[in-house]
Amino acid sequence: MKTETARCVVVGGGPAGMMAGLLLARQGVEVVVLEKHGDFLRDFRGDTVHPSTLRVIDELGYLEEFLRIPHTKVTDITVHTAAGPVTFADFSRIGGPFPYIAFMPQWDVLDFLARKAGELPGFRLYQKAEGISVIREGDRVRGVRADTPDGPLEIRADLVLAADGRHSTMRRAVGLPVSASAAPMDVLWFRLAREPEETMSFLHTGRGFVLITIDRGSYWQIAYVIPQGQYDAVQAEGLDRLRADVASVHPPFGDRVRREIGDWDDVKLLSVRVDRLRTWYRPGLLCIGDAAHAMSPAGGVGINLAVQDAVAAARMLGPTLRAGGTPTPRELARVQRRRELPVRAVQTAQVHMLADLYPKDRRSTVERPLAARLVRRFPFLTRWTARFIGVGLRPEHVS
Ligand SMILES: Cc1cc2nc3c(=O)[nH]c(=O)nc-3n(C[C@H](O)[C@H](O)[C@H](O)COP(=O)(O)OP(=O)(O)OC[C@H]3O[C@@H](n4cnc5c(N)ncnc54)[C@H](O)[C@@H]3O)c2cc1C
Repeated sequence: MKTETARCVVVGGGPAGMMAGLLLARQGVEVVVLEKHGDFLRDFRGDTVHPSTLRVIDELGYLEEFLRIPHTKVTDITVHTAAGPVTFADFSRIGGPFPYIAFMPQWDVLDFLARKAGELPGFRLYQKAEGISVIREGDRVRGVRADTPDGPLEIRADLVLAADGRHSTMRRAVGLPVSASAAPMDVLWFRLAREPEETMSFLHTGRGFVLITIDRGSYWQIAYVIPQGQYDAVQAEGLDRLRADVASVHPPFGDRVRREIGDWDDVKLLSVRVDRLRTWYRPGLLCIGDAAHAMSPAGGVGINLAVQDAVAAARMLGPTLRAGGTPTPRELARVQRRRELPVRAVQTAQVHMLADLYPKDRRSTVERPLAARLVRRFPFLTRWTARFIGVGLRPEHVS
């Protein structure tokens, strides 16, 4: 078995892992990121870059270059309910230099971070390298064992950052207990061709479904959101029901959905999970991002929280690592304490306040969700919801 050393090994090259790798390398910490896939192109996992993430990119001095990546700017979240359109969040009212969410393919964002990190000495990204287990000495984690195309690899390090997402192998390997909440939905993803100049609003509710459309230039990335655990029922109803639902939202989709969704293989199920670790760390290992707290897509905040965790972890632990020390469990606990409040607040909103935005079964229609009634009655709230979604509690800074 090949053995290497680093000060920190990051398992997972998603938003949390790539940002943590970049920020540690910028501090002069020798860091290895292991990513099990060969590239960043894979299942749809969200395209949103929030104001607080844009500010981090700005603090790093990369903003101008970053914004050259093709993107669209969304200044509000308006939901089309049976009772008419309701604006839930108005980013134009939050002030500051980024009064919008940038929609940018996640693989472009990750490619960008990888490129920037790759320019720094001490940064290594190993793709097709899957973290399999941890190396232990007594009760302490001392590194990671990985499978790579060149065979097994052992990387010894003072800190393992587990950023390997909601099915985290690392958190399982060290036996961190998870508490899960019921997520109200599952999501079926597919694409439909987009006509030049075709526009659509972002979110529509219908009978037994919610439809989210994301402009990807030549195509629409579409989420057909269904009540959780109902995929078998949806399949039993047949593809024609799904096609009719899609066409009911936007009649020009009628022909396209018949042509382009030929069978269930053209539709991908992503089941949604909301969970959180009670303790995010063991001596020598810290979980961040979805590995510490799997987020539902509601509000599109998971990427932002993952990035914010990475910024906090790198800022709080980087100096110890750079000085050649090993972060103590107390230092790891401080990162958890700092990040837990924003995570809890968002998960509570996702599970409770936003739950009635999604139909409970395939017959019901979302008429007047509580959140819609509130923002209709008190329109000033759209500024606070925008701030909560776009910036969140405890926005993190690079230094
Ligand atoms: C259907 C769906 C839609 C979503 N839409 C949005 C959205 O629009 N906006 C938003 O902000 N959030 C969205 N989310 C949530 C968002 O995807 C996550 O919160 C966010 O990606 C978390 O980032 P992460 O880096 O922690 O984990 P991930 O993005 O899951 O990244 C983990 C990385 O680790 C790699 N990996 C996994 N295991 C290993 C291993 N053993 N060894 C090496 N590498 C490994 C994976 O390949 C992956 O690259 C959505 C989630 C779902 C399920």
